Amino acid sequence: MSILRKGGRVSRAVAIVLTSRGWDQFQVPAKTGDLCERVMAKCDQGYLCDVCGEEVDNISESDLYLRFVTGQITSQALLASPERHLKCNPIVAQFIVAEQFETPTADGPFAKSEMDPPYVAEQEDLMTRGWQRLQELYEISDQTPLTDYPLPEFRRSTSDR
Ligand SMILES: [Zn+2]
Repeated sequence: MSILRKGGRVSRAVAIVLTSRGWDQFQVPAKTGDLCERVMAKCDQGYLCDVCGEEVDNISESDLYLRFVTGQITSQALLASPERHLKCNPIVAQFIVAEQFETPTADGPFAKSEMDPPYVAEQEDLMTRGWQRLQELYEISDQTPLTDYPLPEFRRSTSDR
């Protein structure tokens, strides 16, 4: 599968990005071209969760994309980081509070029961909105450029144009 092209005077490259249909091709700025080989290697591995080893089927269950839409990682880091299921990363997923999501419990020092309530409230607000954005993207990612994936307040900082 040819997933990424770059070279010559082409100013943009194509990268594989997670959408509602699974992994799909998107244009990325050529600046991220040095990530191309890593992106390709990642595709060859099938985008498996680095915790449980199962495939991450679509954007609605992606921990990596939750961190992207909530402004914690840039689009460059997105393309270079390992994928993970939300349910496989309870330290982040414990902050998602939604009826349709089975909120996992994290153990140890990173359990939210060990954290300051104001911080927990802030994280719950952010991660829950991020999760809702992922469910939205599940429907609209086909028509949405990668730079518009994040929540509105994080769109500028995650753009590398
Ligand atoms: Zn997993």
